[in-house]
Amino acid sequence: MTAPLWTVDEICTHTSGIMAETAMVPAPIDHITMDSRMCRKGSLFVALPGAQADGHDFLAKAANADASAALVTTPDISIELAQIIVPDCLAALTALAVAGRNRFKGAMIAITGSVGKTGTKEMLAHLLRACGQSHANEGNFNNHIGLPLSLAALPAGSQFAIQEIGMNHAGEIAKLTRIARPDIAMITRIAAVHSGHFESIDAIANAKAEIFEGMHGGTAVLNIDDPFFPHLSQAAKSAGISRIVTFGSHSDAEFCLLSSRQDNDGMKIEADLSGVPVSFHLGMSGQHWAMNSLGVLACVHALGEDPVAASDSLASFGDIAGRGACHNGIFNGHAISVIDDSYNASPASMSAALAPFLTGARHTDIMVLSDMLELGSHSAAAHDDIVATVASIGPRHVIAIGDDFAHAFAKVAHDCDVIIANDPAHATDMLARLVQADDTIFIKGSKGSGAWRVTNAVLSVL
Ligand code: ATP
Ligand code: MG
Repeated sequence: MTAPLWTVDEICTHTSGIMAETAMVPAPIDHITMDSRMCRKGSLFVALPGAQADGHDFLAKAANADASAALVTTPDISIELAQIIVPDCLAALTALAVAGRNRFKGAMIAITGSVGKTGTKEMLAHLLRACGQSHANEGNFNNHIGLPLSLAALPAGSQFAIQEIGMNHAGEIAKLTRIARPDIAMITRIAAVHSGHFESIDAIANAKAEIFEGMHGGTAVLNIDDPFFPHLSQAAKSAGISRIVTFGSHSDAEFCLLSSRQDNDGMKIEADLSGVPVSFHLGMSGQHWAMNSLGVLACVHALGEDPVAASDSLASFGDIAGRGACHNGIFNGHAISVIDDSYNASPASMSAALAPFLTGARHTDIMVLSDMLELGSHSAAAHDDIVATVASIGPRHVIAIGDDFAHAFAKVAHDCDVIIANDPAHATDMLARLVQADDTIFIKGSKGSGAWRVTNAVLSVL
């Protein structure tokens, strides 16, 4: 058991909860989860209602897994588990997150932006672990459930907390940043992601700028290359943030990317870190990650740590699953490489991922692409643009999943051999038929359109 986060009495105090009358003596909590499969001794199981299932149906599983207590609205005293009764489990979890944030005396760094939040969060956490005890949200825990889960589990003695903040709609970030109260807020970049939920890209920028509403002074770390930089820096100033640290490739950037070159195991980067010229290696691929790394080093500097020393540690930060990680192995009898960028896709991330193929810095033989979702009325034009880029790259085969890519490949001129697959399973079958020795396969698409299912199928046998 790691150091306890909360006693059950403290949880009752912060959530106005009362203990159900079971015979169980509650043990201290060192872990918080809404997934009964993750429960162990020391876990607080939060019985959240979900679209598919209600957490209360899993109380017995949590008890069998030896969880120490559960947060419930309706107790089941036939189950041998200490239960804290609250009127609303999510509101109670959020109250616990607020309490966790209030007692935390370290530095809170929040990261938002249309793309790159999770990868940037992981990169920053990697660097800060060398400077002191650091807590970062798990995976993609960035919304009205993930953020409270993460901050309720913030160890009181941590020196750094790194929290990704996401959104699908206006107003969501404002609520989350008031809980997180960042000392430093980084915005990776503004792009047309979830644009089906917004009238314009200006509206997306405004929604990202909500992050400043939870700050009381502190530092904004902003991408000077972003067309919305003047807007975001003005929004930061209006929110009372006087310190703005910039990153980007513009010569005015305080953390300036001078050049980046793809090599076999990542990128070789030349940069100017607030007047200090450095050259370092980043274990990730693509200009967009080089750019994010400058933002990360700007955060390190804003924290009073040494960004030059930190830049050396970026070599040991490797590709993240689903965001450009490369895998090698045997598929259907052939030695192949898979570039797995299939965690998600938007026009910005698709273009960024395709850029190294266009310049010749990387090569691909077969592309598996699934539709970019949530683009509303921009969707057709966005898919047409990507098809035009794919046509310029000219892979041997393209396997496309989804109506939007099907329409775009039918409409836009290209010389590619394109297979329109009915679904991810069909795409996987086609891939197995078309693959040849030494092929490099690139896979990308939105979560809901299934490119990741092709990745999973291939990696499970690679
Ligand atoms: P989500 O909104 O799903 O939480 P995210 O903002 O956390 O996404 P990541 O998961 O880190 O972002 O990356 C998502 C995709 O965006 C990946 O394909 C990644 O390569 C790409 N990406 C990361 N940074 C940039 C950038 N600066 N410009 C364009 N694409 C980027
Ligand atoms: Mg994310």
